[in-house]
Amino acid sequence: MTAFIIDGKAMALQIRQEVAEAAANFKAESGVTPGLAAILVGDDPASQIYVRNKGRACDEAGLFNEIFNLPADVAEAELMDLVQRLNGDDRFHGILVQLPLPGHIDSRKVLDSVSPDKDVDGLHPINAGRLLAGGDGFVPCTPAGVQQLLLRTGNDPAGKHVVVVGRSDIVGKPIAAIMMQKKPGANATVTVCHSATTDLPSITRSADILVAAIGQPHFIKADMVKEGVVVIDVGTNRIEDSTKKSGYRLVGDVDFDAVAEKASAITPVPGGVGPMTIAMLLSNTLQSAKRMAEAGQSPRP
Ligand code: NDP
Repeated sequence: MTAFIIDGKAMALQIRQEVAEAAANFKAESGVTPGLAAILVGDDPASQIYVRNKGRACDEAGLFNEIFNLPADVAEAELMDLVQRLNGDDRFHGILVQLPLPGHIDSRKVLDSVSPDKDVDGLHPINAGRLLAGGDGFVPCTPAGVQQLLLRTGNDPAGKHVVVVGRSDIVGKPIAAIMMQKKPGANATVTVCHSATTDLPSITRSADILVAAIGQPHFIKADMVKEGVVVIDVGTNRIEDSTKKSGYRLVGDVDFDAVAEKASAITPVPGGVGPMTIAMLLSNTLQSAKRMAEAGQSPRP
């Protein structure tokens, strides 16, 4: 079997267009432009690119956005002050704190200070709790993107065995929580694996859908999957490549070429999960603006 390659880039563009149309309709009805505030601390080049791309995506979808740059040595209290101001700033329906933050800052404390109603990254414990309880909180963007990649390619997880390798708060745990929901688009039987899992290959081989969120290049080999598996590769790893101008290239957690021979569908890296993260951020920001409008809050147009 040679796998169908799931084109996350095309799907993300489609979702961004859908958000742009829905945002324009919402604006016409309510007079409100959905807005996203992005906080960037320091000058890490990768973070700068991520934030810039998120801003551009907002512009293209007609969402108001502003980037708040703080120096790498900013005091934690000053960062928390900014978050508080943005919590009360009705131009913004979403607040995004770009991670990682510098070592002297307690990331958890900062993320917890974002209003759960503006937490479009879905990282606040209240939204994590709502997700587990089956409520309507914000779902973290990458995991939400993984669900869309499955659903929009006809790979409904209902009744399937979904194996998630990785249990981070940002990726693995929320993916598992989404997949086990008693809801349409979920309803899977979920197994979560991690570095202390015994005999990992025997578990990954039983997956109908395998989600790799490990952070180790080419970790999932062909003999770790069964024929016909659907593979979603969240991993984004830099490996040296002297043929590239940058000196590196991005690869996933899955040994793509070999696994694609056995899988029925697979996401590439790059061009799979990555682009979906921004698309879902826009979607969450629009959702937030709509919720606030419904709740009678009146953010400025
Ligand atoms: P973390 O490092 O936080 O978590 C990695 C997880 O993998 C941990 O649960 C860890 O287990 C598990 N793990 C590590 N080694 C093994 C092993 N040998 N066997 C089984 N499990 C193992 O990473 P993240 O979840 O933040 O990210 C995972 C990957 O996804 C990274 O490559 C990251 O760059 C990428 N990513 C991509 C995004 C995108 O938009 N495409 C967004 C976010 C992340 P344990 O808990 O026991 O330590």
